[in-house]
Amino acid sequence: MNYHVLTLFPEMIENGFATSITGRAMENGLLHLNAVNIRDYSMDKHRHVDDYPYGGGAGMVMQPEPIYRAYEDLTNELRKKPRVIYVTPQGEVFRQSKAEELAREEDLIFLCGHYEGVDERLLEEIVTDYISIGDYVLTGGELAALVVMDAISRLVPGVLGNETSKDHESFQDSLLEHPQYTRPPEFRGRKVPEILLSGHHARIEAWRRKQSIKRTLERRPDLLKKAELDKEDQRYLEELLKEGKNIW
Ligand code: SAM
Repeated sequence: MNYHVLTLFPEMIENGFATSITGRAMENGLLHLNAVNIRDYSMDKHRHVDDYPYGGGAGMVMQPEPIYRAYEDLTNELRKKPRVIYVTPQGEVFRQSKAEELAREEDLIFLCGHYEGVDERLLEEIVTDYISIGDYVLTGGELAALVVMDAISRLVPGVLGNETSKDHESFQDSLLEHPQYTRPPEFRGRKVPEILLSGHHARIEAWRRKQSIKRTLERRPDLLKKAELDKEDQRYLEELLKEGKNIW
């Protein structure tokens, strides 16, 4: 996967991405990062990239020309026009299904806004996807781009050492993951559930499935509408509902 990030703070993207699993994947050549400084494409000697909003109002707006020039340079070099993701609180809220869709691309361009955002005409000209990482407002798009890139990266084959580790995760089948435990077997009087020490794989799987359903019901019941539940799952869910487990 090749990421190209149009940003005013390339070091923020580079430092964030070079850490831990994504950093190792870059060293192994599975992920590539090209952080492009929009300021390098400024039209004036003071390297300005923003200006006052037409119509008045607080704050500054990122000008279209420097971003377009950076985009043009990049796509000419690539000889193709990959999808362009503008991270914005006005986009569709980012979900695992979108990460799965984007992980199938070879190249992705991210645009990080700052100040009051980006001139609308530039967005109309180049953006293919508008993604929000949640209903709150950040100071800039860099952290949002890193969140999206991180979620995509772990779906790229080989990036996670253990290929099975993403199989049972939260949002897989629209369920949250079961609770996890490690050593010691007892912590401050709290014991690891007996079943996990039994070595009986089929029973452990069944227990985990139930925990997954229970947790989803308690914390994110909205997800259950889309979950694929077999008869056994449904029986368990009805049992929980009868016990009054749905907190909503
Ligand atoms: N004035 C804009 C608005 O009300 O929609 C908010 C601009 S915000 C201060 C600056 C930049 O941060 C945005 O252009 C966007 O790139 C990024 N940003 C802020 N919140 C975000 C979120 N929830 N998800 C993704 N990007 C976000």
